[in-house]
Amino acid sequence: MNAGKRLFLSLSFVSLAILGSGVILLFWLVMPRLKMLAEWMFYAAAAAAALFLLVVSGGLFLLFLSAITERDFLFPHGKKQVTVKVLYPINLFLGFLLGIGRERVGESFVEFNNALVRATRKRIDLGRIMILLPHCLQLSDCQYRVTSDIGNCRRCGKCAISELAELSEKINARIAVATGGTLARRLIVEIKPTLILAVACERDLVSGILDAYPTPVYGILNQRPHGPCNNTTVDLEKVRAGFVSLLGREI
Ligand code: SF4
Repeated sequence: MNAGKRLFLSLSFVSLAILGSGVILLFWLVMPRLKMLAEWMFYAAAAAAALFLLVVSGGLFLLFLSAITERDFLFPHGKKQVTVKVLYPINLFLGFLLGIGRERVGESFVEFNNALVRATRKRIDLGRIMILLPHCLQLSDCQYRVTSDIGNCRRCGKCAISELAELSEKINARIAVATGGTLARRLIVEIKPTLILAVACERDLVSGILDAYPTPVYGILNQRPHGPCNNTTVDLEKVRAGFVSLLGREI
């Protein structure tokens, strides 16, 4: 299994175990009182607790199975929404309690999310793919304004923008450079992509995945040899490999 998603998966298992133990403990605490009130209440509460645990653990089991095998065991949207809206904040809190930094949990979440996007790729409409890039990927002293139109890039090859622009032409994808979250959200509203491949730091990728939902976002972490937000770059092989796995063909 891809090591990146393992941390998020492990935290999810622990979260599930804590939740299950909590429900059982709660039931054990109220059990004597329920029996005192009425026998049927006891059985009704037991059935409700068992059903709750069955639905939650069954749903999460399918989610984990999809992420591990990268095969689609999910019902449309439902279980993926659980990961995005529920599991991430719980795992983040659990990571905090265990002394695991936000950055590591976020990076693992991105890998876990990518595995789910790959698993569900046959359901994704590939008609409007968008490549979304951060402004810091552009060479800081480049004079051309690629944020207004990436066509302004002269393809000098001094930063990753030129190769990514070439790649977008090959796969007929829209490509845009955003200066921040607000512009990124506006581009998503305007272009209405069916699939986004985003390059960014862990923090922006996590918020992008959460904000763009239900549009699937495949995230690639940028590299920061000069520190954050300055002349960043990206492993183009990872971008290419991401597209190969999503499109199901060589590019
Ligand atoms: S490839 Fe060259 S022209 Fe294009 S954005 Fe980078 S530095 Fe500017």
